[in-house]
Amino acid sequence: MNTQNLLGDLVGALASGKLKVIDLTQTLSPEFPTLELPPQFGQCEPLRVEKVSEYDDRGPLWYWNNFSCNEHTGTHFDAPIHWVTGKDLPNNSVDTLPVQELVGPALVIDCSAESAANPDFLLDVAHLERWEAAHGRIDEGSWVLMRTDWSKHSSSARYKNMDETGQHTPGPTPEAVKFLVEERGIRGFGTETIGTDAGQAHSMNPPYPAHHYLHGAGRYGLQCLTNLDLLPTRGAVIICPPLKLQRGSGSPLRVLALVAS
Ligand code: MN
Repeated sequence: MNTQNLLGDLVGALASGKLKVIDLTQTLSPEFPTLELPPQFGQCEPLRVEKVSEYDDRGPLWYWNNFSCNEHTGTHFDAPIHWVTGKDLPNNSVDTLPVQELVGPALVIDCSAESAANPDFLLDVAHLERWEAAHGRIDEGSWVLMRTDWSKHSSSARYKNMDETGQHTPGPTPEAVKFLVEERGIRGFGTETIGTDAGQAHSMNPPYPAHHYLHGAGRYGLQCLTNLDLLPTRGAVIICPPLKLQRGSGSPLRVLALVAS
């Protein structure tokens, strides 16, 4: 392959609009919903913002804020160290993972109709096999993004869809995520919901199977994505570098997709 003009071609395609940049990130605000665990567990803090100055006595020429949040607040990245199955892997935290992995191809599995009909919809192996029959084999090293259009509910109670049994939101079955990780060698799994797992995944075997299998294999998660309906089924490239937090288990981030127009 002649690589001489690769980056020049990329810059040209971006400048001409042949390549578009799509933002897959939800705006992070104090109101953005966060995961709620049963009360005996520690909780995920929402964003907090404290103004330091805004062109005033505390800083006459500048505006800036202090902020804090959980590593898993808003649109965010999950690193292998997040889960007990990945805790002893090398380079398993956001500051040590290989940066080459943070730019890569993405495939979109459209589960929007099924998720609209059933908030507890589970993506299973048969669904993945039908997808492959229509669109070709899921490539090793690709991000698999589960489109549910759940991002469109992010300002309403339907986003978490909580009742006394917890969240009711779509996600993969244990068998589906095991298949993606072990049979297809995916790079990671991304969702529009809070968590790579279904809302009721606490009662699956193993519990939280997406976390279990992905992170146990050194793979990654992306959650609270949006605009997956603007991506092609195949052909997008996503750029998703988390903050370089020392021994961080994840971080809020900006996720961008490059798409040919
Ligand atoms: Mn997370």
